[in-house]
Amino acid sequence: MTGDFQVPPAFVQALRQHQSYLLVSHVGLDGDHLGSMLALQQALTIMGKRVVAYLPESIPASLSRILYGLENTSAELPDEKFDAVVALECPTLGRMPKGFEPRKMAPLLLNFDHHQDNENYGDINWVLPEVAALGEMTFELIQHLDVPLDRSMATALYVAVLTDTGSFQYSRVTPATHRRLASMLQAGVATDEVSRSVYRNSTPNVLKLLGRMLNDLTVDERDGVCVAWAEITQKSLDEYSVRPEEIQFFVDELDRVEQADVVVLVREAPGGKIKASIRSRNHPINQVAAIFGGGGHSRAAGVTTDGKISEIRKALVDAVHTELTKLTKA
Ligand code: 5GP
Ligand code: MN
Repeated sequence: MTGDFQVPPAFVQALRQHQSYLLVSHVGLDGDHLGSMLALQQALTIMGKRVVAYLPESIPASLSRILYGLENTSAELPDEKFDAVVALECPTLGRMPKGFEPRKMAPLLLNFDHHQDNENYGDINWVLPEVAALGEMTFELIQHLDVPLDRSMATALYVAVLTDTGSFQYSRVTPATHRRLASMLQAGVATDEVSRSVYRNSTPNVLKLLGRMLNDLTVDERDGVCVAWAEITQKSLDEYSVRPEEIQFFVDELDRVEQADVVVLVREAPGGKIKASIRSRNHPINQVAAIFGGGGHSRAAGVTTDGKISEIRKALVDAVHTELTKLTKA
């Protein structure tokens, strides 16, 4: 896989031809859509457009410290109409922020994503599931808009690709990914500052909580299928005074267990929700997430649901076992 792809002319045209754009992304903030959103907002602004980036969630310091342009984003839904809404990596309308109705905000809806379960709900859909990060698609889009990449856009896109590829390690990383990264570095990304901020800047309490999670991790091996799992309760977050957005990387630490086929991190999230992150080494697990109303990529998926943490965790781990046993015996 070379990683080269075409940018649809209709998508580029739709971003050239109008005056005002509202950018929105899925709930559960991550570096890929945040970086892509900031870079696209900056590019469209340079083109003379009016752009609001709607970001109703709090942004972790690990990202806010190194990204430019956050002061131009809006935590409130603007009380005005736009020419177009651009949805960045929202596979379904249901993944958009609560109460957000794109059709009420603009007559045109552009759907821009790299999730395979995307439902193509837009007027124009540009969805490439084989691409590792939306940041790569945003990079190509900005080239097609003829906006020169400056340091701030390049940094935002670098953060997007860095965080969505597990630091360029996942299977969807291609030669083209690295060529795009080279252009970003050329534009002046401070790679040392970025990775320090994103991965090596945790408070001692976050690390102590990580220690507790690793101490309590469980390896559940049945019929040759190995699942490593851990739970993080609201009580332990409170005990260590740690905010939910500070532990997004914990699943990557769990993903270091030697023999695991799949790792599952289940945590109590704000609003009484249970949030699970699932990572798989060799088999698709997004179908398992879908059973619980979640979704995601083939090897990285998630679930947000109601219930008791241990019950959800048990059901999820059992479902992973059932699915993988089926797949490995097939
Ligand atoms: P993470 O575990 O890092 O939150 O998410 C991994 C992948 O699963 C991402 O592509 C994310 O969009 C997706 N994902 C996470 N949580 C949910 C969820 O509750 N519902 C759906 N449909 N996808 C999710
Ligand atoms: Mn992504």
